[in-house]
Amino acid sequence: MKCCACGAENCDLVYHYPSPAITSLSTILEVDTRVYICAACGHMQSADLPDVQKFYDTEYQISLTSEDADQLYDVVGGVPVYRTQYQAGLIVDFVDLPKGASVLDYGAAKAKSLYRLCERRPDISPHVFDVSEDYRSYWQGWVPKDQQATYSAPAEWNGRFDLITAHFVLEHVREPVEIFSDIARLLSPSGRFFFSVPDVLGNPADMIVVDHLNHFTRTSLPVALDRAGMKIERIDTSRLRGAFVVVASLKQGHEKVSAPDPSETKAVIKSLNECCASWHDAEKLVANAQARNAGRKVAIYGAGVYGTFVYARIRNSGGAACFVDRNPHVHGRDHLGVPVLPPEALPADIGVLYVALNPAIARKAMADLGFDQREGLELVYLS
Ligand SMILES: [Zn+2]
Repeated sequence: MKCCACGAENCDLVYHYPSPAITSLSTILEVDTRVYICAACGHMQSADLPDVQKFYDTEYQISLTSEDADQLYDVVGGVPVYRTQYQAGLIVDFVDLPKGASVLDYGAAKAKSLYRLCERRPDISPHVFDVSEDYRSYWQGWVPKDQQATYSAPAEWNGRFDLITAHFVLEHVREPVEIFSDIARLLSPSGRFFFSVPDVLGNPADMIVVDHLNHFTRTSLPVALDRAGMKIERIDTSRLRGAFVVVASLKQGHEKVSAPDPSETKAVIKSLNECCASWHDAEKLVANAQARNAGRKVAIYGAGVYGTFVYARIRNSGGAACFVDRNPHVHGRDHLGVPVLPPEALPADIGVLYVALNPAIARKAMADLGFDQREGLELVYLS
């Protein structure tokens, strides 16, 4: 398979799991999961979805159900901080925006981060672009009609923008260098491109979600940007959990950007292989627990990507009686046709609880709830 970051025909299949697969929205798709690592640049990528264009045009409606469905990022001093609010804050911190700047949200969806940015900086001129018509209604009233575009950004916008943002867009596209090139065409010579993508080494769950075709690394990002005529000004892994925040700009004239050091690429590839091995281990732990506990009632702690991963692997060997999750927004709802309960409502007859959380926090979460001391309850961790 060809690497979509560096272009080399140098990708090794490192992970294959037969259908079903998990999506980033914690749904199940009846396709195989295949993940590759590029030996040249340290990029990780997943196989194509059957009809990737259609998936985003009609099926991928993130947070569309309710105006308040903005993802909670953090709670600071008892006050909820939403992801879009937080992203707008990062932009202000990372980019020096001139007065009256032209700003484009590329792959905007509801463009809430841009909306939040306009609240902080009413002087900017907002533009939006998305590959779907679904979000038009969210742009009405605050983005002028001639500053909205769908399917492709018009040629009149070439070289216009002081800032282009793309929040969690590039992981979804098959040809990221084409998108980077499109963004380079739209940037003004002194413009900045601010984007975020998942960091698979900071958030291992990113590896198995099939709609994330790209899993960028600190070595593949500069290589992919370079091919589109851009260079990295700043790259950060501390401000947004499990993600890279990157500021890039256009290379000037024949400016050369040095490639990542081969030893760094090697270190990245080693870490990617370890991430991959951890998923194979998780599969074995789940399979062994199912075999050992046949006939006992099962629940899954966590109704997110990890929980969906466990469910997909046990659905044909008994499935689960319920999901348990701390997030009050999902209580009383079904996930994959299975009820979601708060932790305190875990039924007494559950004998096996799969702890489907990021392994880094799983054991502490169970201890905090006292589940590790509960009589007759076997906890199954993924690592
Ligand atoms: Zn590569």
